[in-house]
Amino acid sequence: MKEKIMRFMQGRYGVDQLGSFLNSVLLVLIIVNLFIGSRLLNLFLLLLLIFSYSRIFSKNYSRCYAQNQWYLDKTSGIRKAFGKQKAYHEIKKDYHIYKCKQCGQKIKIPKGKGKIIVTCPKCGNEFQKKS
Ligand SMILES: [Zn+2]
Repeated sequence: MKEKIMRFMQGRYGVDQLGSFLNSVLLVLIIVNLFIGSRLLNLFLLLLLIFSYSRIFSKNYSRCYAQNQWYLDKTSGIRKAFGKQKAYHEIKKDYHIYKCKQCGQKIKIPKGKGKIIVTCPKCGNEFQKKS
């Protein structure tokens, strides 16, 4: 059975970033439609499902690749913003971020060092902070 599936999937496009995005959208909308029961949404879901699966089983690589590139291009801003947000939260785990009252420079201070004197690298302003 597994071999049959593998043979069937050979040379087919499969799931890319757009594919997994479509699947997440489908899942969310299916759950939403459980509550609102819209026929229009049902029809839309069916079309989306067909589109999504036609891409997964497609042998037309270049068309699917182009669609995925279009998706990546359209969402690059959003994905970059999420990436930045994530990086910021990573930093916030180990550091405090203070703003210099004199020049507005943001200063990163490691957490758990007790009371410290912070010297602004930009204007030399000194202030005391608890880290
Ligand atoms: Zn400063």
